[in-house]
Order: sequence, then structure tokens, then C-alpha cells
Amino acid sequence: MGRKPDEAGLAEPDKFAPARTLMVKKDLRGRGITDKSVLEVMGKVPRHLFVSGRMRARAYGDHPLPIGEGQTISQPYVVALMTELVNIKSAEKALEIGTGSGYQAAVLAGLTDQVYTVEIREGLALKAGERLEGLGYDGIKLKHADGYFGWEEHAPFDVIMVTAAANHIPPPLLKQLREGGRLIIPLGSTTYYQTLTLVTKVKGEFEVEQITGVRFVPLVGEAQESGP
Ligand code: SAH
Repeated sequence: MGRKPDEAGLAEPDKFAPARTLMVKKDLRGRGITDKSVLEVMGKVPRHLFVSGRMRARAYGDHPLPIGEGQTISQPYVVALMTELVNIKSAEKALEIGTGSGYQAAVLAGLTDQVYTVEIREGLALKAGERLEGLGYDGIKLKHADGYFGWEEHAPFDVIMVTAAANHIPPPLLKQLREGGRLIIPLGSTTYYQTLTLVTKVKGEFEVEQITGVRFVPLVGEAQESGP
């Protein structure tokens, strides 16, 4: 696994630690996130280092953050909720679709050694790769591609997190989900709101659970070409 952020030798002392602690207490624990490992890792990952300089002061607020090219990192509660719902264990393999800033991938990397992440926008993929490496997350495998097709050569995955909205679940992702695996995706209209949807593969069948309303940027590429 890559070094943990608290070992990453950040140049400046972490003046954001109190804001991060408050975020965990108020916006995560205070709103029903109970998984200790999720709370612990989100109390460590330096969210402010995943956004540009002028956004840093707002990094621990209860809202999404712009990361360039019209994209956003989800608000902390949504990151925590999705991470808690997929319930990843340390020996399991996770695939994220929509690397964006790399923040969600870093959170996953605090929970397992095996994190794969795919980003369709080349500029964001490059930046996230450099950022993650700079922070010591060198165990995360990142690729610039259309995540609609998953990452076949590393399948099957125990956990698949799609962090962009689609009006259907990409069939290749369902195929790449291991028996007992969990997939989470914001499903619905890509221009308005979606329903955070959890899919569990049980005996080759998919059990579907609708969690709550969310708003994500759209999954682009093949997801917009094909549809129900
Ligand atoms: N999880 C990210 C934020 C996701 S924002 C974080 O923690 O920062 C949604 C991301 O999905 C954007 O970066 C967008 O470029 C990417 N995306 C959209 N369509 C995609 C696709 N088909 N394959 C891979 N990434 C995609």
C-alpha cells in the first residue's frame, strides 16, 4: 500500500486538522455515518490537498468542491456514505469510475491495498496521478479511459464505485463485479437528480437497493451513447 497521508511528509504542518476533525464529528458521525474505519480514514486524508490553492479554505465544508473542467468532488457526507455502503474489507479489490481529484481513491486506499481508478478526462487523470504519487499513494493504479468498460484485466472486483451519474448501469461493470461484490452508482437523470443505488451480486443475481437522492456530474462517453 502507498504510505498513509499522515506519513506522507507533507511540507507544512497540517493547519487543517481541526477543520477535518470537526467535519468528521459534525457532518459524518453527526449524520449517521458509523463505520469506524471510514470515519478514521476521512479524519486523515488531507482533503484540502485535492483542490486548488484558493479552494483550500473551504475544503472541509459541507458541500461539493470544484476540481476543474466543470467537475466536482462530492461533499464529505456523500463520500462517507458511499464508502460505508460498499463496506470494503482490507483484502478486497476496489474499482472507482471517475477519479476526478483522486480524493475518493485516496479514501479507498486507506481501507484496502487494491485500488484501481479510471478517469476519462486526460487533464484530470494526469493531475490526479501526480497528486496521488506526491502524497505517497503509490499503490493506487490509475488509467485514462472510458470507465464504462471497467478495467477488464484486473476484474473481478469486490467493490465498484461510480462517482458520476448515469441513466443505466454499464453492463461491463456488472460483469466485472465478483460474487458477493457491491457496486454503487448515482442512477437516474444525468441533468437533474439521481438515486444513489447499491447493487449486490448474490448467487449470480443482482439485488438492488435505492438509498437516497443525490446530484452528480454525468458519466460521459459510452454511457451517453448507449442507454435503456
Ligand atoms: N471521485 C472524484 C470526483 C468525481 S467527479 C473525486 O473524488 O474527486 C466525476 C468524474 O468522473 C469527473 O472527473 C469526470 O471526468 C469523470 N468521468 C465522467 N465520465 C467518465 C467515464 N465515462 N469514465 C471515467 N471517468 C468519467
